[in-house]
Amino acid sequence: MINVSTGTAAVFGLDNIKMDVAPTTGYLMLGGRCVMDCAFCAQARSSQASALKLSRITWPEFDESQTLALLAKAVERGDIRRCCLQVTVAEGYFQRTLEVIRAVRGTCNVPVDAAILPRDMAQVEELLAAGVDHIGFGLDAAGERVFQRVKGGNWAQSVSLIEDAARRFPGHVAVHLIVGLGEKEQEVAEVIQRMHDLGLIIGLFAFTPVRGTRMEDVSPPPISTYRRMQVARYLIANDLARVGNFTFSTAGQLLSFDLPPLPEILADGVAFQTSGCPDCNRPFYNERPGGTMYNYPKPLTSQQTKAAIEELEVLI
Ligand code: SF4
Repeated sequence: MINVSTGTAAVFGLDNIKMDVAPTTGYLMLGGRCVMDCAFCAQARSSQASALKLSRITWPEFDESQTLALLAKAVERGDIRRCCLQVTVAEGYFQRTLEVIRAVRGTCNVPVDAAILPRDMAQVEELLAAGVDHIGFGLDAAGERVFQRVKGGNWAQSVSLIEDAARRFPGHVAVHLIVGLGEKEQEVAEVIQRMHDLGLIIGLFAFTPVRGTRMEDVSPPPISTYRRMQVARYLIANDLARVGNFTFSTAGQLLSFDLPPLPEILADGVAFQTSGCPDCNRPFYNERPGGTMYNYPKPLTSQQTKAAIEELEVLI
């Protein structure tokens, strides 16, 4: 059996929910309660959330070989262009991940990523040798202070493994950062710059409260903060600016990008689309249908782009 995100299940024909936007990556979860205890995560050790949840998404279980056969068909149709395994640190998680990577690779030649917590460089090497395209590290927190409060564990060790992996395997390492865990905007922008300088792909997420987790009562980030962080990531990731060009208040809020051609740069709306590995659009991972759109899962209309630029609340 394997857990499949509801959106992915709908693309595979396993579920008939109606979707405004379909995922272009097939998301599978290799789960089981995690031994880690991230305060925001539905799969955390102390979480009371459903075992079928990750962020606000439900992941029903299906037969594994049937799922992989349907994945191959969706790839053949061109509906799915990447597969990503969301892996929790449950018993036997690493071997299980290797098995599923090999099974996917044996079924079709879609690129496979794994959002996983490898223990050391030997495990990084094993994942890549098994055929993983990107390893997505869930660093999540922008800085040691928030990391320790929200995730626990050792910040320096986590960052050092990510940085070593990025140096050794350029182009094959991604990092997830969550905006809204209690960090300052300046901290997010600085971590984005540090990770980008090492060649990492940066997937930006908005904190989403999930009932049953330790952070269930914390609000998601203000949309203006998230828009500023999206633009900071976009400018840095595309080498259009460096964090040193931005102006921050003493409280760490981003006040200005100091980049005169910004209106033209933002005009296509791409800065506000979901970021991460190619074709990873994560529809409604952080958003309720009809609610605040943190990450747009498809190209924006000109009206949506105009609204997103206004939501930045900075002079451009
Ligand atoms: S950015 Fe998307 S495809 Fe890449 S590891 Fe993260 S969730 Fe998976």
